Amino acid sequence: MKDFLLNLKQEGILIEGKKNGKEYLHLTTPCKIHITDTVTNQLRESYESKKEKGGILVSAPTRVGNETHLTIDKVIFLTNKSETPEDSYLPDSKELQEALNETLANQTEKTLPLRFHTHPTHSDNPINEVFNYVYQSNTSAQDQMVSDNPITIGDIKIIMPRSIVLCNSNMADRMFIGFYNGLIAPLEFDTHKKEQIKESMDSIMNGVSEWAKEGNNKWWLAGGGLMLAILIIRYNKLAIPLVLLLVAMIPMFVNDQHGNPKYFAQIRTGKVTIDIP
Ligand SMILES: [Zn+2]
Repeated sequence: MKDFLLNLKQEGILIEGKKNGKEYLHLTTPCKIHITDTVTNQLRESYESKKEKGGILVSAPTRVGNETHLTIDKVIFLTNKSETPEDSYLPDSKELQEALNETLANQTEKTLPLRFHTHPTHSDNPINEVFNYVYQSNTSAQDQMVSDNPITIGDIKIIMPRSIVLCNSNMADRMFIGFYNGLIAPLEFDTHKKEQIKESMDSIMNGVSEWAKEGNNKWWLAGGGLMLAILIIRYNKLAIPLVLLLVAMIPMFVNDQHGNPKYFAQIRTGKVTIDIP
């Protein structure tokens, strides 16, 4: 196991880093994480909207040029021992140790373990379920804290990125999968989501302003704005939650697997590659 990690260091896949004065091994960047459709299907099928689940994503590392690539082709689920599985995940420690050993000691395949857990989105109200999907697609304070805990092999401590997975069945069957920490990615997704929302809003606004320059389109735009204003004034009590819902849903429509997803992706079907630049 130790030789395998030292080889990865020699190949440039792992590198030494420090946090709070302690030394760790972590992945080198830029890093591309490829998740096969077998794994996205399995994560989607085993997702439960009322309780947290989790385990290990088994990833095969390679170095291509100056990039690190991880291919995730297998999931190991570990029993949740938490007394409140509806809002926390605590893997069975024996199963965890076995899964870590199995992953790191795999002589034929040479794999690295990435820990993951899911966040529940269930609500009896489908609109609240959309809100849950949007607001649960981030790390909790607890998630951020424990993500600094390394995997220890002899005198080597290694910190790998961790992953959060959640699904929304009411809204177009979307699945969110994100990677945080590992000393190479942010601890949370909100900052990056806001940047993306700003980018997509800018491109919408640019599109609208280009369109408005053509012929009589600006009158249509003014008319549409006036209609919206009248609707909000007339039905304000109803319109405000609707506008809020639309704003809350924006993150669901950006960062699809068809773009170049960074840190997290939202997918409907098939495989995906997520960049950690
Ligand atoms: Zn969590």
